[in-house]
Amino acid sequence: MDLEPTLFFNGVDGSWYCTRCRERVVKNGRTKGGKQRYHCRLCKTTKVLIPEPNRFGDRYDEQIIRLLKEGCGIRSIARLVGIGPATVTRKILLIAANVQPPALSEKGLSFQVDELHTCVGKTNRKICVIYSWNASLHQAFSLSVGTRSKASLRKVIEPLLLADARRINTDGYSGYEKVIPLNKHTISKRRNNHIERKHLSLRTHLKRLQRRTICFSRSAEMLEAVVRIYLWG
Ligand SMILES: [Zn+2]
Repeated sequence: MDLEPTLFFNGVDGSWYCTRCRERVVKNGRTKGGKQRYHCRLCKTTKVLIPEPNRFGDRYDEQIIRLLKEGCGIRSIARLVGIGPATVTRKILLIAANVQPPALSEKGLSFQVDELHTCVGKTNRKICVIYSWNASLHQAFSLSVGTRSKASLRKVIEPLLLADARRINTDGYSGYEKVIPLNKHTISKRRNNHIERKHLSLRTHLKRLQRRTICFSRSAEMLEAVVRIYLWG
């Protein structure tokens, strides 16, 4: 995901240096795509010259989407597709940027808004995944990955209100009262079994996706990309 140059060229001695450590790097084999790889002895990382963001076009996109939805982690996808993990990560971000929620053309639907709490990164930053779900269409319509702020709640709720939602059910968190009109809002932790069951499989799957991808990505951006692709890819 790191698209900043990590190497710089010194014209005086004709060598590549690590941008972070100012240490000369040594050649260290090649990537699967045939790029020269370098190794820095100081920070013990392997680097390539500025990665090309989209060198394979959409050739592997479908395969990546399918594997991601089956819950494969970045490394297994890289192995199965035969490209490097860094390329898989970049591709996932690119694919997710082009994935859109379905148009909410039907009026008067009921929605469940649910949350998943998780932590990302070395500092265990708390991340809240909030999404809306319609049980009869079996479809998510809006998503926010980040904090549980009013802005995040709005991002999830507003598209539903624009489509004239009949009812929006949430858990007991009081923040929702500020963004959902009283006459449309119901609060219930126990939903009917039918919704709950379908819903549960989504929760379980998302949890699994989170666990598997987070160990590699360590970022909220990556988590959002994976969830977007899972819901709408
Ligand atoms: Zn270094």
